[in-house]
Amino acid sequence: MAVRLDADTVSSLVGPDLARIGREHLDQGRVFELAREDGGVAAVVLDSAREEFDVWVGVVNGALTGECDCEDDETAPLCGHAVAVTLAALEDGLSFTSVPESDDDDDEDRFAEVAATLSFDQLVDLVARQAVADPDFADELLSLADPND
Ligand SMILES: [Zn+2]
Repeated sequence: MAVRLDADTVSSLVGPDLARIGREHLDQGRVFELAREDGGVAAVVLDSAREEFDVWVGVVNGALTGECDCEDDETAPLCGHAVAVTLAALEDGLSFTSVPESDDDDDEDRFAEVAATLSFDQLVDLVARQAVADPDFADELLSLADPND
């Protein structure tokens, strides 16, 4: 699933200050080695202090997400470096693919199809064995059986 983004969307997501910082990095040619990676885009950003940051930007569970070596991304979803990489990717026409989200959906659909082919006894047996192996699954099973418990 490709996620459509443009510069206006990015700036409304991150706010005008970060959008300006990202644009500045880009305009001053500080984004290098832009490449597709893991459904998103990776690059190296050299900031004004000539410090290098490895940055990855992609869409995780439907949300634009940046990963960067700097500390700023602990307070904001994206730091200025990640914004710069996002803008650079947009200018290069690279699209972001929401990999984790679509994979989960595909897997669930696939498992549901397979489960639908099993007999009732097979399903009961499978659920019982999984409940023994996985305490979280067992809790979920028990709460479904008795929602008031
Ligand atoms: Zn950063």
